[in-house]
Order: sequence, then C-alpha cells, then structure tokens
Amino acid sequence: MHPLYAQLPTTIFEVMSGLARELGAVNLGQGFPEEDGPLFVREAAARALLEQSNQYPPLRGLPELRQAVAGHYAAQQGVSLDPDQEIVVTSGGTEGLAASLLALIAPGDEVLVFEPLYDAYVPLIQRAGGVVRVGRLQAPEFRLQASELERLFSEKTRLVVINTPGNPNARAFELDELELLADYVERFDCRVVSDEVWEQVVFDGRRHVGVLQVPRLRERAVKIGSAGKMFSLTGWKVGFVCAAPPLARCVAAAHQFLTFTTPPNLQRAVAHGLTSPGVYFDELVAQLQASRDRLTRGLAQEGFVTLPSQATYFATLDLAASGIALDDADFCFRAVREAGVAVLPLSAFYVDAAPRHFVRLCFSKKPETLDRGIEGLARMRRLLG
Ligand code: PMP
Repeated sequence: MHPLYAQLPTTIFEVMSGLARELGAVNLGQGFPEEDGPLFVREAAARALLEQSNQYPPLRGLPELRQAVAGHYAAQQGVSLDPDQEIVVTSGGTEGLAASLLALIAPGDEVLVFEPLYDAYVPLIQRAGGVVRVGRLQAPEFRLQASELERLFSEKTRLVVINTPGNPNARAFELDELELLADYVERFDCRVVSDEVWEQVVFDGRRHVGVLQVPRLRERAVKIGSAGKMFSLTGWKVGFVCAAPPLARCVAAAHQFLTFTTPPNLQRAVAHGLTSPGVYFDELVAQLQASRDRLTRGLAQEGFVTLPSQATYFATLDLAASGIALDDADFCFRAVREAGVAVLPLSAFYVDAAPRHFVRLCFSKKPETLDRGIEGLARMRRLLG
C-alpha cells in the first residue's frame, strides 16, 4: 500500500455529511446544489444516451464538445483555443487536476500551493512525486501578496497551483494578482496549473479573469474547467483542461491511462449546454447571488459576521467577529449535534497552523433550507449563551 493513501483520514466533508444524514440536520456543509441542473441539458443527455453511440469517444473528447468549449471561452473570456490541440476533456475537474499534476511534475520538483486550499491538491502533488511548498492567502482579503511570492519562489520551484475563484475563500483573483504571479513564473521559468472550476459563478457584476487571459502565462499555464459546476450537475464529472499544445499533449498522455475518456452522452449534453445556453448562465449567477444574500443577511440579523463572498457557492462565517469563542471544529461538531445544522471548519482547508475561527457555509440550497440553516445557527448561538 502507498503510505500516503493508507494514512489518509476520511475527509471532514464525508464525516459532516454522514452526521447530517444520521441526525437529520440541515446540510450547509458539503458543496453541492440542492436543485438539479437545467432540464435542457439533462434532456440532451437522455436523448444522446438513447439515440447516439455509447462507445469510446476520442481520447481528447468528442470534437463537438471541444468546439463548444472553445466557443464558450472565446465568447466569455476572449480566450482563443484550438479545439484540436489545446483542449482535453476529462472526467471532471478532479481528473483534469490529477492528469495535469501527473503530467507536469517530475520527481523532486517543488510545487507551490496557497492556503486555504482545496483538499485534493496536496495528495495529488505528493503522489506525482512533487515536494509541496505551502504559501498563504491571508484572511480576510485572501490576496496574492508580493511578499509571500518573494518568500516562496526559488530556483527549485517548477510549478504553481492556484485556484480562482477559490474554494473555500470565495474570492476571485484580479488581473494585477495574476500579473504579479506572471512576474515570478517568468523569472523562475516555471508553470502554472490554475483550477478555475468556479469561473462561471462570480457575483456583483464581476468578470472572471483566468490565467489564459494573461499573455505572459498563455504558454505556461494549464487551466481547468468543470461542466459539473457550470451546469449544477456535480455528479456528471465532465471537465476540460485547456493549455498550449505541448502542455495539452502531455496532459492528454496522462489522461489516457487514468480514464481514457468520459461518457459520450454527457459530453454531447455539455456541448449542447455550452452552445445554446440562452440566459442560463445569467440566471445561475442571479439565483446564487440571491441565495448568498438571503443567507448572509439572515445571519447578520442574528448577529453573525460573514466575510465577503465574491464567487463560488460558499460564504465564510467569522466566529471570533461574531462573538463566539469556540474553535471552528468544536463549533461544527456541536452545531450538527446540538443545533441540527452541518457546516465545515475552515481549518480543514489548511496544511499548516490554521486560523481557527472561520466556518464554511454552502448556499446553493433552496430558500427554505437556507432559512432552516440560519435558524439552526441562531439556535447554536443561543445555546452558547
Ligand atoms: N476544484 C475545486 C476548487 C472544487 O471546488 C471542486 C469541486 N468541489 C473541484 C475542483 C472538482 O471538480 P469536479 O467535480 O468537476 O471534479
């Protein structure tokens, strides 16, 4: 057995969702939408399943999906991609990440990551033979800081993994931060893997800015997208890796021995969703923004303080600023057991000494679920006196 996996504990996401199920608690912990994705996309998947081939699609994905991904990113982000050479369809953002890290890390390479971080990064980098070096985005702004990049980068740095918009920090990097990163990536001649699975969920009229939009990073970066996030169909696991031809070729080589391909009906349905979205994306953002506001306003009325949520479907509750002295994990375990609401400690997203006064809340839920969540948290507050 590989010690890395043999010793990996069950994630807090599983533990909390398990407790929520067992205790019948409202689940604002794990990040999935309570309502299923759009009917026009699900119907396209059903039609494709019945009427078209269900045999192995090409290794890099169906041409119609690669074309649709290129069209989508050209229209939404002004990024021009060659569907034949610069796009690889993967089984979710997760497989895209795994294929990219396996492909781009050679044994002993130093790889930079930034806390708070999505839990898949560190084990994948280590299993690929990389040496993880952990930097930090300081709460509550979660900005990429020059001083931190200065501290982290060295001749040993080969790869940088970033996540924008970020889970759990709900923050989208701005162009100046990516330009700053580009200064270091150029100076130390390294590459970037950018997890942008949340690119479509950005609020308050902001536009997502991704690595491929920064000319100095265009040839050095791999960008990862996820149809599961774009269409609120998280179980589908359809993702896309986009990168310059030599990088995409290497990622495709890793992908061929991980999954080789992804179910063809789901690929066809995602292509349909991307080519004829109508007002879908605007409605998605408007609806999630309304859910964010419902949750944060409701919590504010109960005396809770939350950090700004610019993107994703997460908000962060600041326990200390809300007058609660409990450690984040204690708060979460007591909230699920005593107040019937499951939420996640932000310390689970840190490798090193974590701040212990933040809690992550997921708001991609129905209004009544959000209201029950607010009531539960208010109950918890009263229990604490
Ligand atoms: N990266 C981040 C930051 C995520 O939040 C998620 C999903 N929670 C993923 C990757 C995985 O995406 P997928 O479901 O498409 O594999």
